[in-house]
Amino acid sequence: MLRVEQVEKSYKKGGLMSKERQKVLQNISFVCQQGECLGIIGESGSGKSTLGRLLLGIEKPDRGTILFEGKSVEEPKVRLGHISAVFQDYTSSINPFYTVEQAMMEPMKQQRKSKQEAQSKIDQLLHQVGLNSSYRTKYPHELSGGEAQRVCIARAVATEPKCILLDEAISSLDGSIQIQVLELLKRLRSIYNMGYIFITHDIQAAAYICDRVMIIKSGQIEEMVRIEHLKDVQSPYARKLLQMIIT
Ligand code: ADP
Ligand code: MG
Repeated sequence: MLRVEQVEKSYKKGGLMSKERQKVLQNISFVCQQGECLGIIGESGSGKSTLGRLLLGIEKPDRGTILFEGKSVEEPKVRLGHISAVFQDYTSSINPFYTVEQAMMEPMKQQRKSKQEAQSKIDQLLHQVGLNSSYRTKYPHELSGGEAQRVCIARAVATEPKCILLDEAISSLDGSIQIQVLELLKRLRSIYNMGYIFITHDIQAAAYICDRVMIIKSGQIEEMVRIEHLKDVQSPYARKLLQMIIT
């Protein structure tokens, strides 16, 4: 589904006039299969979100290619409706002047659904994320964190994409709500047969939902491991995280 080959990305370091560049990603190559949930784990600053933006085609790599079903994600029509995203900051992810219904309508606009079709889709989506129809007319400030993130997830699912990228999507939620949202993501995945790219610093959450995880350190892939072999992971960073959970 997603094929990443030899991707490199650097940013300008220091002031405007500075020529120095900081390499943020190097030598990144991997494949994510259709319907797979691939975790990307690494400490803060390791380049996870940068990789996420490249996968979404929001930014371009300096070198290398990112193909979605054989075509470059840099082309808008390759990704529109096929790859969507949920970010950590659910409060700023929804336009504060939009109702839940308006926010959810946004991604469906390209699909030329009739008003009636779109509205029944919204009801169905709200129901699938555990919210009832009364949420249609609410504004973001009237929602709790967990509810707002459910709306963001519903919006990401609206076009029935093949892949959703979640960047620290549950990290700002309270513990018990995190588990509910993880359950929700699992359920949606089985309904829609979607793949997830699940970016997190939380190895436990990744273990709960992912089929495979990639450990990234200082912008490079340190290890790729299937979830059933997570306990045998070699990466010192991953080992440290695992030990924190066990003890
Ligand atoms: P993570 O999501 O793993 O915490 P990021 O991808 O956000 O890591 O950041 C990786 C590194 O790239 C950091 O050192 C960060 O400061 C730098 N960086 C990220 N985005 C930019 C940008 N737009 N301009 C300059 N530096 C950036
Ligand atoms: Mg990040």
